[in-house]
Amino acid sequence: MRAAVIGSGPAGFYTTDQLLGAGFEVDLFDALPTPFGLVRSGVAPDHPKLKSVTRIYEKTATKPGFRFFGNVAVGRDVTRDELVARYDAVVYAVGTADDNRLGIPGEDRPGSHSATEFVAWYNGHPEYSGHEFDLSGGRAVVIGNGNVAIDVARMLVLDPSELAPTDTADHAIEGFRAATVDEVILLGRRGPAQAAFTNPEVRELGELLRADVVCDAAQVAEATEPETPTQKRNVELFAEYAAREPSGKSHRIELRFLRSPIEILGEGQDGPVTGVRASINRLENGRAVPTGEEEVIECGLVLRSIGYRGRPLDAVPFDERRGLIRNEGGRVCDDSGMPCGGEYVVGWIKRGPSGVIGTNKKDAADTVARIVEDRDAGRIGRAPRPDAEEVAAWLAERVPDAVTWEGWQAIDAAERAAGEAQGRPRVKLVTLAALAEAGRVPTPTR
Ligand code: NAP
Repeated sequence: MRAAVIGSGPAGFYTTDQLLGAGFEVDLFDALPTPFGLVRSGVAPDHPKLKSVTRIYEKTATKPGFRFFGNVAVGRDVTRDELVARYDAVVYAVGTADDNRLGIPGEDRPGSHSATEFVAWYNGHPEYSGHEFDLSGGRAVVIGNGNVAIDVARMLVLDPSELAPTDTADHAIEGFRAATVDEVILLGRRGPAQAAFTNPEVRELGELLRADVVCDAAQVAEATEPETPTQKRNVELFAEYAAREPSGKSHRIELRFLRSPIEILGEGQDGPVTGVRASINRLENGRAVPTGEEEVIECGLVLRSIGYRGRPLDAVPFDERRGLIRNEGGRVCDDSGMPCGGEYVVGWIKRGPSGVIGTNKKDAADTVARIVEDRDAGRIGRAPRPDAEEVAAWLAERVPDAVTWEGWQAIDAAERAAGEAQGRPRVKLVTLAALAEAGRVPTPTR
């Protein structure tokens, strides 16, 4: 049987590997010319160890029955119906492309950006490479208390020597080099014990070369009882930071809790950001409740990092409320809750944007188990399908500049070679034109 997996991030790759193991041939698609999803364009560039997970995915790509079609987007180049007609199983692993909205006045002022956009920019995602960020202010406010918020805060204050050996996109390295942001305030709506950070990320804040980390001792002392070991360790780390004497580093990151932004301030309707008006909260049964007091934090940059939500994909049933593809345990369902048959979902677009990279391995196993069940019960694979060569011919006609795995390997080699000269893992190609050019290889796909 033949499966299409849509999206080549961790969820897509783990699914592909397990489907190959279960005897399927797999065509893995990505809307970008490059594979690996958020491992390439989300994981912070100063976390190279996390990125090395791609070696596992590269092994998957050597297995018989694997093909890659980059630069092919469902809804743009091919439709859901066309895929369903050509594969016994179609698995959506497209992640959650949109950011949650605060829904407050001033959210879209110049200088107020989603972390999604900022992360994609410094990671050289071709659709965001041309975006511009004014990093000339002294203070930035990052809204949200998750790991993405920590990533963007840390990237803003990294020492040039910490940035230099990374694969941060060249345009962003230049931007960071010229930046004058020297203070970042991380704003959490709840207390220290409720922060969604993981321990290594919090610990890393205390080890930055040129930034002190600052916490208010009173806020930490008043933290409610942590419920998990992770939260307990976080609060211990915050207490340690609160007790630290400032060491006089040139930059600082402050963790400020119990604050909800209620307005992004600026001149007039559309003037650039000048500050954040926030309510001061207290906790009531674990929830943030405004005390009625407010404060204004002056700043020139706001990064909103309050989680992601999925984007509807062509005609695939979508649960608007949850921002996910409608599914029951990985089987895509129609609006009445009936399985569509032959369509599955995995990763963040199945369960929401939570967990770490490895979480997707188990998630993929759950979805693949449903596919194998359906195969063994004869629920899929009954209709006649075009064979692999016919599908390749159809795609070659439909998307002449699709990038094969060999094409990606050519891109990879070009990026690595450029990086080697600079002592960096790679220098990323950041435009679709450059990627298409580097990825154009005459090799057949199998
Ligand atoms: P997240 O962990 O879900 O954190 C979202 C944060 O936004 C929470 O602190 C949440 O507060 C806050 N928030 C939500 N709505 C808000 C609002 N209206 N106003 C103010 N604050 C609001 O999401 P994330 O940081 O985007 O991360 C996504 C996933 O990727 C997570 O599983 C994360 O661990 C993972 N990740 C991991 C790493 C790593 O391992 N190094 C790096 C990056 C991302 P409440 O708790 O009060 O809702």
